[in-house]
Amino acid sequence: MKKILVCLLFHTAVGQSQQMDSPLNIILMIGDGMGLSQISAGMYANNNQTVLEEFPVIGLCKTHSINNLVTDSAAGGTAIACGEKTYNYVLGINSKNKKLESVLEICEDNGYNTGLIVNSSIVHATPASFYANVNSRKNYGEIALQLSESDVDYFIGGGEKYFNKRKDSRDLIKEMNTVDVVKSFGAYKKSNAERIGLFTYDDEPPSIIDGREPILADYLTATLDKLDRREEPFFLMVEGSQIDWGGHANDIDYITSEYIEFNNTIEVALNYAKNNSNTLVIVTADHETGGLAITRGKIKNFKMVTGFNTIGHSATMVPVFSYGKFSKLFAGIYENNQIFHKMIKALGVN
Ligand code: MG
Ligand code: ZN
Repeated sequence: MKKILVCLLFHTAVGQSQQMDSPLNIILMIGDGMGLSQISAGMYANNNQTVLEEFPVIGLCKTHSINNLVTDSAAGGTAIACGEKTYNYVLGINSKNKKLESVLEICEDNGYNTGLIVNSSIVHATPASFYANVNSRKNYGEIALQLSESDVDYFIGGGEKYFNKRKDSRDLIKEMNTVDVVKSFGAYKKSNAERIGLFTYDDEPPSIIDGREPILADYLTATLDKLDRREEPFFLMVEGSQIDWGGHANDIDYITSEYIEFNNTIEVALNYAKNNSNTLVIVTADHETGGLAITRGKIKNFKMVTGFNTIGHSATMVPVFSYGKFSKLFAGIYENNQIFHKMIKALGVN
């Protein structure tokens, strides 16, 4: 958050009709690998209900990368975060090798507070596409360094080892001296710092089935509480990271348990937007994973028989659900990088 611009923004906002002129908050929610079949399966597993039914505006987006009909999460994340399609495996750099600025960084430049909340490591492709510029998503050491040098105000995710057990022996947690890096969610909630980071796991977090507490919704609630107490507008990206990993594992129970956690987290964002009319919530995916289909099922208990076509991703379009101010911009069928341009238009910044 850049102080000078904040003051400018607030002097123009004060004294005018608060709701009309207060700057837009965005909560962007990405279900990694969350195609329509994952949403459908998660909905049936959740007693035929999903909070997405409350979203009035629905669009579809085309997910292909610049050279492949089937994208990965790096190219997909870069398109959504930075507005340009690029090569698979690349983060925040376009096909002409130009570094791109993400919507999160543009928000920072305009006085916003920002946050990333994920249940993968914080250096994984989807969150990294909002702060990193690297040719390979696997370069976790460099991605961690770029997060430590970024202006992101709040982050929650795994991957602590990339910060404090490094080949170059640097301790990035010490180096991030303007961020209160805490060791527990209790400490995260208690901290009054203006910038807070929580490492949930040393490496990649496990699945819910393997014992991860399904508390992504609580992470979002706690972060919204902090943002709410501050005067500046905010941009938040929240990822249901492991819906994708369930798809790669061709494991329907993995997918539906991760989906239900994400669904409960979307509900928190939706309720916030219902109470704060200057808020836009966007729920989408970077791609579908697994070529999942529900091929048979019983009405009683919504028991499903499912099949997969691949252990990788597929090129099917993914839905975009939106709620709140400027949500109408997200209706229709468009390329994934247009999500960035629609957010920039909604924010009214350059
Ligand atoms: Mg991801
Ligand atoms: Zn994947």
